[in-house]
Amino acid sequence: MPRALIAGGSLAGLAAANLLARRGFDVDVFERTETSLEGRGAGIVTHPELLDGLEACGARVDPTVGVYVPGRVTYARDGSVVGTRDAPQILTSWQRLYWLLREPLPDARYHLGRRLERVEQTAGSVIAHFSDGSRETGDLLVGADGIRSQVRAQLLPSAVPQYAGYVAWRGLTAEASLSDAAREALFCKFAFCLPESEQMLGYPVAGQRNSVAPGTRAFNFVWYRPVDECEMLPRMLIDASGRRHDAGIPPHLIDRKWIDAMYADADRLLSPQFAEVVRKADQPFFQPIFDLVSPRLAFGRVALIGDAAFVARPHVGMGVAKAVSDALALADSVSASWSDGRGIEAGLRDYEAMRQPSGVAIVDRARQLGAYMQAQLSTPEQRAAAARYRTPESVMAETALHADYWTNPGRRRLPAWAGLA
Ligand SMILES: Cc1cc2nc3c(=O)[nH]c(=O)nc-3n(C[C@H](O)[C@H](O)[C@H](O)COP(=O)(O)OP(=O)(O)OC[C@H]3O[C@@H](n4cnc5c(N)ncnc54)[C@H](O)[C@@H]3O)c2cc1C
Repeated sequence: MPRALIAGGSLAGLAAANLLARRGFDVDVFERTETSLEGRGAGIVTHPELLDGLEACGARVDPTVGVYVPGRVTYARDGSVVGTRDAPQILTSWQRLYWLLREPLPDARYHLGRRLERVEQTAGSVIAHFSDGSRETGDLLVGADGIRSQVRAQLLPSAVPQYAGYVAWRGLTAEASLSDAAREALFCKFAFCLPESEQMLGYPVAGQRNSVAPGTRAFNFVWYRPVDECEMLPRMLIDASGRRHDAGIPPHLIDRKWIDAMYADADRLLSPQFAEVVRKADQPFFQPIFDLVSPRLAFGRVALIGDAAFVARPHVGMGVAKAVSDALALADSVSASWSDGRGIEAGLRDYEAMRQPSGVAIVDRARQLGAYMQAQLSTPEQRAAAARYRTPESVMAETALHADYWTNPGRRRLPAWAGLA
């Protein structure tokens, strides 16, 4: 059977590995991180196609996959409700999805501490060269190595992430640490608060040991705030020892003064419920928000998937769903082209034709939803999008839901058990 080399052992790489293995491919995943990725990450919004994709990977999808909420609510600065909306959804965590996808893959197929350095192609194979000097030969290579993809940097150096003009402060807060008032306001809904040019949102997710039992859950918050690219952002990316982290600063290295300033702003700008979760979060951190569009996804025997291919701002809540859908399209395309004799390269071209346009569409939609947080709005389109998507009604109706969610009754809805959870 053909051998698939997969660079990157996060969610896109694991989904591709499971799906290709289930179609008879010989797969190996190479992850640069030395130790397990377990224990990292925060909250993830699910969509029906993500749950379908997990099942296709061999993962067991049942009510423990996440926390069910029936709808949405927006709080004003004084804590009163300014709007509500029905929107049933299952909210989960990165860690929970990581294990659902990691479990079906045999340990012998998952290699930690292997950093891909470059890719070489011959007429009939692809060779992966690693930073430890080792190499592996396969029939195809999947670049699932994230937003700073080494595979993309080599094959498509012009495609680079573009800073969106704002950051997301994020964190997880233990349910047990919260006051009754905050718990009651926040744990039954997907909640929002909309200070001028900013957006706070949050939802309940599984807590320690993936427990979704009330009392043991956590609250995941994401607070989008404009940050100027030239002056402020570079300063925030410098740690307390003076070292600069351009590709993103690890949470434990963020200078305390930015966290203290963020706490003070939370008290000043957010509803009391949200200010409380911010102050009680275990280790708040921030991530600059980027857009990334790849004009090509297939390069002979090599293809890009997940964040290596496209990064959409999180407002569409599509990062993981898109990664799993990419992996499914790639696995179906190459297994079909291999079986009918057209070969791997033809299958990867079919994959590109399927997924490149949808990647562009997802990034565009996320740009529109995020326009009102941008520090600078330079075009008339950006200003129009900013005006359209800044009200509580539009934010609740459009954030992390598909555009056709309400209008296309043929779409697959949540599994039947979701409403019973
Ligand atoms: C530890 C972690 C936690 C995350 N938590 C969240 C979260 O809470 N919420 C959220 O919305 N998104 C989170 N994400 C991002 C989310 O996983 C992605 O947006 C989405 O699932 C697409 O995943 P991906 O596999 O394409 O990219 P990523 O998840 O970024 O994974 C890329 C993987 O490739 C590895 N890699 C990079 N370069 C190389 C190389 N040269 N050789 C080998 N391996 C390499 C990285 O170490 C990483 O494991 C997290 C990502 C990681 C890695």
